[in-house]
Amino acid sequence: MQELVELIFPPAPVCAACARPLTGFFRTDFCRQCLDRLVFTGKPYCARCGRPLASRSAAGKQLCYTCTRTEPRFRLSRSALVYTEEARALIHRFKYEGQVELGKALGRLMAARLGNYPELGRYKVVVPIPLHPETAVSRTFNQALILAAQVADKRNRRLVPYVLQRLPGSALQHTLSGRQRRQGLAGEFYVADPAPIKGRRVLLIDDVLTTGSTLSEAARVLLRAGAKEVAGYTLAIGLAEKDGY
Ligand SMILES: [Zn+2]
Ligand SMILES: [Zn+2]
Repeated sequence: MQELVELIFPPAPVCAACARPLTGFFRTDFCRQCLDRLVFTGKPYCARCGRPLASRSAAGKQLCYTCTRTEPRFRLSRSALVYTEEARALIHRFKYEGQVELGKALGRLMAARLGNYPELGRYKVVVPIPLHPETAVSRTFNQALILAAQVADKRNRRLVPYVLQRLPGSALQHTLSGRQRRQGLAGEFYVADPAPIKGRRVLLIDDVLTTGSTLSEAARVLLRAGAKEVAGYTLAIGLAEKDGY
């Protein structure tokens, strides 16, 4: 009976973040108020990792502080959102409270924002950053895979979900400092099947870029397995004090 009612009177579309009814002609996932609370990335940003640079320090500057100190292994990376408190809360609901529909909506937001970055246009093979095997046991889904599936689907790219794998027994990310991560990450990833990425330009997808060390390490492993070039694209990116914030 419920299905029949919904067939005749389909439920009004609601915002994926706040569940308020959506108004307007165009089909959107988020209401105006929720979109206005998010901060989208914009120029100026680091030519390498896409981290926004404060305008007062950006005159003539091409790279962020992190990228001037360590060269990442990915060719370039871009992000859809700045990792603000709002973005963090949405990602938390998706990642830890199992709100998969919200995650899909965030993935579609990423797909829509990808058009702002023509420099990522050549990267046609989409690979999500895999979960730690330890985390995979307690979590039913990989948030990066859900985002990657939307990006691949909406931007007409090939999703290759399981070529990149993580070795078991590696320490959990959030318990490590930036330096420990850079040191401890060596050898953390491996490529299970190089065929789909050999000679291809790969777009690595993750939820948040902070230091960039995870993306860099994954890129290193993919390049060693025969990928032609590797770029990154994340839902959100953290600002850094050293870049003027
Ligand atoms: Zn809303
Ligand atoms: Zn950078």
